[in-house]
Amino acid sequence: MTAHLDQRQRAMLAEMGVRVWSPLAEPQASDMPNAASPTAAPSAPASLTASAPLPATAQTVADHAAPSQAPVRVVTPASATKSHATAPVLVQRPEGIDQMDWGTLQHTVSQCQACNLCGTRHNTVFGVGAPAAPDQAPQVDWLIVGEAPGENEDLQGEPFVGQAGQLLDNILLAMGLSRQGGGQGAGVYITNVLKCRPPGNRNPKPEEVAQCLPNLERQVALLQPKIILAMGRFAVQALLRDTLPDVETIPLGKLRGQVHRYQGVPVVVTYHPAYVLRNLPEKAKVWADVCLAMATMK
Ligand code: URA
Repeated sequence: MTAHLDQRQRAMLAEMGVRVWSPLAEPQASDMPNAASPTAAPSAPASLTASAPLPATAQTVADHAAPSQAPVRVVTPASATKSHATAPVLVQRPEGIDQMDWGTLQHTVSQCQACNLCGTRHNTVFGVGAPAAPDQAPQVDWLIVGEAPGENEDLQGEPFVGQAGQLLDNILLAMGLSRQGGGQGAGVYITNVLKCRPPGNRNPKPEEVAQCLPNLERQVALLQPKIILAMGRFAVQALLRDTLPDVETIPLGKLRGQVHRYQGVPVVVTYHPAYVLRNLPEKAKVWADVCLAMATMK
């Protein structure tokens, strides 16, 4: 069908917000990634535009699956079919995240289009840590979990590289650790609950957390850290929701000072570095939490 559309028909479809792709057709301006035309359909990440069929409401696209993963489904949000909405085309997460190896998981996250954040991100932010063999999870004792990438993290593709990250680096230094260091098996891995930046650094939405959480779950299963430091409310809620079903109603301060569990791994709760930067006297509490975590490790 797409091969027989003339330019006028294509323009009309573009006006309706329908993307057209054909291996035989010349690329149209509105098909180009980052096309500036106000009538262009929402630009989707290259992985999608390269093989996306006409957007039906749900269509199987084997090409989007991570290597050796089940096909995934393209889902055009209802709003996107109704108007010139800027919502991205969403693609269901492939099944089997809980079986993926580190490299496949990393690739899957880099291609993820399971929530609207894929439409505004520059980079996914998988995590950073001790060196590891290709496609292998780093061997680390410590896992640090934050909330979501901010602007700098989104641009650089690395977690905690802004001001909050400087504070985190100083905390690690005081612990005798560093974000890249391996060293006597005491390596660190740093990641977030969300792998994409919420626009304007707003709080993560529950549906974004729900879509992204399997990635963190798999990271923990593969890393098998000896301890997890959960920084801030979103990390704490994501990690403790199964063991403390009412965690969202408990102030973070009340969860400090105890050792919780996630997948059997001890979890220590502390404040988010960005919160500490706004409330400097709380720094001492973070250090107390870190000391609890270090004592728990021993
Ligand atoms: N805040 C976070 O929670 N994570 C980051 O990566 C940066 C800031």
